Amino acid sequence: MNASYRGRFAPSPTGPLHFGSLIAAVSSFAQARQQQGKWLLRIEDVDLPRCDTTATTQILKALESYGMIWDEDIIYQSQRNTLYQTALDELNSKNLSYGCACSRKQINENMSSANRRLIYPGTCRDGLPNGTSARSIRLRTDNKEVHFNDIVQGHYSQNILKEVGDFIIRRADNLFAYQLAVVVDDQEQAITEVVRGSDMLDSTPRQILLQQLLGYSTPRYMHIPLATTPDGNKLSKQHHASPIPTDDPRPTLIKALAFLQQQPPADLRDCDISSIWAWTFKHWTTKTIPAQHSILYNDDNV
Ligand code: GLU
Repeated sequence: MNASYRGRFAPSPTGPLHFGSLIAAVSSFAQARQQQGKWLLRIEDVDLPRCDTTATTQILKALESYGMIWDEDIIYQSQRNTLYQTALDELNSKNLSYGCACSRKQINENMSSANRRLIYPGTCRDGLPNGTSARSIRLRTDNKEVHFNDIVQGHYSQNILKEVGDFIIRRADNLFAYQLAVVVDDQEQAITEVVRGSDMLDSTPRQILLQQLLGYSTPRYMHIPLATTPDGNKLSKQHHASPIPTDDPRPTLIKALAFLQQQPPADLRDCDISSIWAWTFKHWTTKTIPAQHSILYNDDNV
């Protein structure tokens, strides 16, 4: 076992696994196991009101039936508020955060937008406007580029202040923001490589900035293309993606490998799950995964 490699799969339990989440699970599992590393499971239920425990049970069962067995205890974000609070306190004590009184409505009215993304204009950065009180907490960002080299997508760079603005680390409903929780968890679980869908690519500079400000290490990143529907939407629960079948997972696992351009041979279809994985660990390569944000998912291209 390569004790130094630690990867993870971090689903949000908002519904059962679908093909879009399966390819993230398969990629992170293959990457970890090929390097004889550990593969950890973290249930990202920090946004508890959007999550449901039935979904968690379904996700665990689906992973097991696909032969993806995790190492160590499962981490649940909903049980980790003390850790997130400690990180928040540290940012507060370094004057790297500030309270923000803006409501969603005001922000929508005042925000500028670039590339269809809304940018927080810094209304509360130098103090709360008179007669208002803080609702959320934002990180004070710098006017500088954050860069990283993604294993699949290549070089990526973002000026957070200009392209995102000071971002929320604790929400108005008192929940910790995903960006803070994921950074604390990746550090605490000593993750060395994050493999996930490309919808997280533009969150990564925010996460790297938080790591730098908190004195954490930065893992390697690998963002795989999203599976999209013909109308351009990411396969997701909102867009009615069907749950992956768990009675006979083999054809769907092979489809996932084909989607990731691993070229599984035709006779793999007759093999059992453990032989499919044995083939995968031997042949898995990141080199053929397209450096694309998304790939159209239909039954013909896999
Ligand atoms: N929880 C996120 C999701 O289910 C993934 C976040 C991550 O891997 O960092 O889409």
